[in-house]
Amino acid sequence: MAKSRITPEKYSGTTQVEHFGKLLNELSKLGTVISTSFGPLGRLKFLQTSQGGHVTVTSSSKRILNQLPSGHPVMHIIISAVREHLARFDDGGLFLIQLTINLITSASRLSIPNHSIIACYEFILKCCIDFFQSDTCPCRINVDISSIKTMLAFMKSILCTKPTCTLNDSEISHLSLLLIKGFVSAIPSPTSQEQFSLQECIQFIHCYGESASESKLLDGILIDNSFTLRNDRDSYTNKFQFLRLPDNTIRVILFNISLAGDPEDSLPENITLIATKDDRSLKLSSIAMERFRRLIEILKANHVGFVGCQKCVHPTFKLALETNGIFVCDRLSILNIGKVKKITGATVLSTSFTEIKDHHFGAISDANYIHINNKCFLNLIPSKYNGRNISTIAIISKDETSCDEIKLVLAAAINSLQQIVTNAVALCGSGCTELTLVRYLQQNRESLFNSAKSQVQLTKSKFFTILDSFQLSLIKIVSSLNQNEKEILTEVQHGHHWIKLSRSISDRCRCGMKNRNEIKSPTFYSPKFDEAIPVKSEVDIVSTSYYRSNENIVLDSFAMKINAYHVAISVANIALRIINTVSDAQT
Ligand SMILES: [Zn+2]
Repeated sequence: MAKSRITPEKYSGTTQVEHFGKLLNELSKLGTVISTSFGPLGRLKFLQTSQGGHVTVTSSSKRILNQLPSGHPVMHIIISAVREHLARFDDGGLFLIQLTINLITSASRLSIPNHSIIACYEFILKCCIDFFQSDTCPCRINVDISSIKTMLAFMKSILCTKPTCTLNDSEISHLSLLLIKGFVSAIPSPTSQEQFSLQECIQFIHCYGESASESKLLDGILIDNSFTLRNDRDSYTNKFQFLRLPDNTIRVILFNISLAGDPEDSLPENITLIATKDDRSLKLSSIAMERFRRLIEILKANHVGFVGCQKCVHPTFKLALETNGIFVCDRLSILNIGKVKKITGATVLSTSFTEIKDHHFGAISDANYIHINNKCFLNLIPSKYNGRNISTIAIISKDETSCDEIKLVLAAAINSLQQIVTNAVALCGSGCTELTLVRYLQQNRESLFNSAKSQVQLTKSKFFTILDSFQLSLIKIVSSLNQNEKEILTEVQHGHHWIKLSRSISDRCRCGMKNRNEIKSPTFYSPKFDEAIPVKSEVDIVSTSYYRSNENIVLDSFAMKINAYHVAISVANIALRIINTVSDAQT
């Protein structure tokens, strides 16, 4: 009897040391890419795969993460968590990645067991959330959402964060105003039955042009209709006599099938065509035309004024419809049919044989062709009766790269507007919140240890070591905001983020909320070394674009920041719980 032999598979796992070595190596590379992209002074990244192809120029976390490979399993966890955060808030990705990386990296350098660090991080997270949610939190700001100045400042603080947008101050102001107008117009009426997200209510299109100051906010949606063969489209809709309902709205019907008279579209499913080779085309044509004639009668009887079709409409059928006051927009494509469905409220029909019922129809108030910088669009304006307040921002930019980046920051700004209207609270931006938190943790370390000792079971010195490493993780992020070019300071009484200039200290903190001259006996110190720095009387000349006036305060969305802290500490703790990984990938 032959002996069977079992060959043990080679163990492809890693030891704990190898696991952390590989992880820290990948975290270090990602950390460098992310920290050098952070803030308005962040450097651009040119991303291209080793096989070549499209080059992405960006400093946005969303686009960087889409391009970067992630080899280590823990990196997958980090990147997935950041993507989830970005899907919800569209902002704060770079901060979140940096905090996660800094926490994991600093924990790996401590001679303290991981389970103790995890317990301590969880305690610190609770302290941070309590600090932010406390009414006495100095970096928590109640935002007056009725003040246009405050809301504009809030928008500007988001739009100025990405250098790839290449926006100057007047362009930022113009886009901020468009965003607020679009946001206000997107607020649903109290009678509206359907609820849309703001992302659905404010759409973006791109046109090439000289300056973002030419960008426009338009009511309704814009459909790129440059493929339409009609030469007189400019004047066509202006003189087109739409068949209208008594309330002056235009009734809409939508199809996602071809109405070009193709054999498979002309016959109901239960009819099988038997035709000879010679007479087939003739009979099909007459069947199709008969079907079209009946459809026109049905549409006329129901006062339909607009037919939208995802595919082609036969020119003869189109002419017959338009002669009867029914405007036809065909070749909408899969990209646009959903938008048209949303704005009109119509049901998209997959057959022209079904009985058309009242709930299949939608409505618009008007349709026009418009030109924006030599590009032609069909503008569908929603009916005021169906509560679909959808508007479009036509972004004018010189190139595709800046447009892609502008779209991302506009989406982040809209998301932040939604958050702030739900809860009119924000946190100071530009690192002021982080350094105020560091000051709080430094000044309350004894009381924090007394609260923590029953939960974390650490000696005082070990607790302080972990607390200090957490603070250093935050300070490192604030330093990267200045691209490590200027020394950062904080103030004993109020915290915030101040810059040490060559002969003095900045007049205002980075978020713009605190004025140095308004603080009684200010004492600044470097948060890294807890060293008090005497205030000098000389004042440097400071460029207005870098240190903003009081109206240009920099704020962060409260919900976004809280979530970023939560996700960063939770993901860091998950990473610290993993002691090795096993992969089936061949090495
Ligand atoms: Zn500040």
